[in-house]
Amino acid sequence: DPLKFSLADFGWNDNPDVLAPPEDFQEWSHDPAVAMGMSLYEQPLQSSPKPRTRIRNGFDGEERDTINLTSYNYLGLSTHPEVVEAAKQAADEYGLSASGAAMLSGTFDLHEEFAQQLADFKQKDACMLFSSGLGGNMGAMQGLLRKGDVLVIDSKCHRSVVDGGTLSGAKLATFDHNDAEHLDAVLDKYSDKRKLVVVEGVYSMDGDLCDLPAINEVCKAHQTPIYIDEAHSTLMFGENGRGVAEHFGLEDQVGISFGTLSKSFGGVGGFVCANEAIIRYMKYYASPFQFSCALPPPIVAGMMKSLEVATRDSTLRDKMWDNVAYFKENLEALNLDLGETESQIIPIIIGSDGRQLYSMAIQCQQRGLFLQPVDFPAVEAHARRFRISVSSQLTKEDIDEACNIIEDVIAKPLGTVGG
Ligand code: PMP
Repeated sequence: DPLKFSLADFGWNDNPDVLAPPEDFQEWSHDPAVAMGMSLYEQPLQSSPKPRTRIRNGFDGEERDTINLTSYNYLGLSTHPEVVEAAKQAADEYGLSASGAAMLSGTFDLHEEFAQQLADFKQKDACMLFSSGLGGNMGAMQGLLRKGDVLVIDSKCHRSVVDGGTLSGAKLATFDHNDAEHLDAVLDKYSDKRKLVVVEGVYSMDGDLCDLPAINEVCKAHQTPIYIDEAHSTLMFGENGRGVAEHFGLEDQVGISFGTLSKSFGGVGGFVCANEAIIRYMKYYASPFQFSCALPPPIVAGMMKSLEVATRDSTLRDKMWDNVAYFKENLEALNLDLGETESQIIPIIIGSDGRQLYSMAIQCQQRGLFLQPVDFPAVEAHARRFRISVSSQLTKEDIDEACNIIEDVIAKPLGTVGG
């Protein structure tokens, strides 16, 4: 039981009230279904995050070769030979660490060059780099918002935006997912306040797109700037891979564009692009930028190569979209609930039964499929699910094999296919 501990673990035996876990936590963490779910978290991968990954199962302790549908390595760039070589060369030249925060000693020529490349790519003047995507969103919210302002977010926005908003001291207001009319009402309510609207290009748990055309109209009418989180859409959507804003032809309407390097780029880190004045201003308030070590130089060099490889032609992206189409076709034949997906993120919505979800995940893995469950509070409790991340590196045979396992372990027990 991974969550069983006593106060002795805190070293304060003689003061039992200090940091004692609340009773509801104790109760919840000892629920056998929760323990089964917990066994699936932090399972160590024994090889790179490729479509074939060796993994140690947390439930039975066995190591198995699996088809990996869980990693974010959408374009396979994490293991791309040119990317890895660029990182190796930078490690030789610069060492492993930036050894300082960006403002002090952590900005290298590589950081400066890469930030400008990203700004040019996103067609903005300037860009700031963060050592994580989460830190990037949090830092941007702190950077832009003050007490008295209102942060207006889509109800499905990522936790990093919520946490950053809270730290900024701004009031947090949500509008119903992709509902431009509701957004209009929320903006009306705060008409006398400074506001920022935050949306995602591709929503991370459902794989649907932001209704940017409708949202943009409302924001324009209220003269409220838009911040778009393109974590899952950069290098994937738009003719040049610049994201969902490009896909809709609305890049010039979106003042601030966020991206992460941990997904299609195959690395780690976050970036925010905007005009020069906004970026300069944000830097003075964004604590994940000011008070944290800058990105490691080998990662920056690798990510420069990722950008080059992914944008010099559309081979990887085309392969990925081919795989998405093939995967969806096969899953649709199983009559599964795939929600409203329009992207490389494909949910399989199971419902409210967490125990069934975990049990299916364990069986999938025992059959050779690494497919992680997503539970409340990451998604609503009635819509627990699996979430497939399609990679360009999957072969049709991988997808066929995965769908056979999904049919046996998920579709048949749910009664969506016969037999
Ligand atoms: N925004 C969105 C929409 C995300 O899905 C994530 C990560 N899942 C992040 C931001 C944070 O990015 P990172 O994992 O690179 O810190």
